[in-house]
Amino acid sequence: MRKPFICGNWKMYKTNAEAVAFVNEAKSLVAGATDVDVGIGAPATALKSLADAAKGTNIMVGGENCHWEKEGAFTGEIAPGMLVECGCSFVIIGHSERRQYFGETNETCNKKAKAAIANGLTVILCCGETLDEREAGKTTAVVTDHVKNGLAGFTPEEMKKIVIAYEPVWAIGTGKTATPEQAQEVHAVIRTLLADMFGKDIAEATRIQYGGSVKPENVKEIMAQPDVDGALVGGAALKPDSFAKLVNFKA
Ligand code: PEP
Repeated sequence: MRKPFICGNWKMYKTNAEAVAFVNEAKSLVAGATDVDVGIGAPATALKSLADAAKGTNIMVGGENCHWEKEGAFTGEIAPGMLVECGCSFVIIGHSERRQYFGETNETCNKKAKAAIANGLTVILCCGETLDEREAGKTTAVVTDHVKNGLAGFTPEEMKKIVIAYEPVWAIGTGKTATPEQAQEVHAVIRTLLADMFGKDIAEATRIQYGGSVKPENVKEIMAQPDVDGALVGGAALKPDSFAKLVNFKA
């Protein structure tokens, strides 16, 4: 049985003070969700205060990116060990915004994910097609490319720390959600691919989140799909009450 994982992705929103205020308000609202993993991916500057504020709660804290090296002359970058030191337990890798605006490739995602896992972090590896790619019938090819190359050379042991997030680019921040059927279709493709790459047991155990305009109003029907094991949420994870409704999707 895969434990659902509802995770916010705050992108470049929230100062330290705002992050702490969020947790102070959200913690009692999500405390009852013991059968769901709850996480927030936050800007690097807010991670330490966020993790300190979340101590003793069921809210995990994660980075939105990391470098693959332990340290070095990489101005502006953050090493996986630095995320761990801030109190992070996971990191989001390969978000479409990072692929689009910061030149992230499957190869760099692969290196980042490997380094993150070596440092004990869980990795949320993002994949997903643009609208043009979907309309050209390339969804399966694009998602396969992201997952296959992003996870190239991973061992079964490393796969225990991997979560996949399927995020159709056309649905991110646009208010256009994939239908539950569209999400399920791609999630099933990903699970079959994982079975081909790592065997059935790992494919069955790996959680696949959906991301793209998930909100309290549509989370239940998306989560009802058999291969959807969680959600990665931007806009609707910025307010404590909305975030709590997502986490408490079963209620
Ligand atoms: C995201 O940032 O990963 C995301 C899915 O954003 P939104 O929920 O706002 O579409």
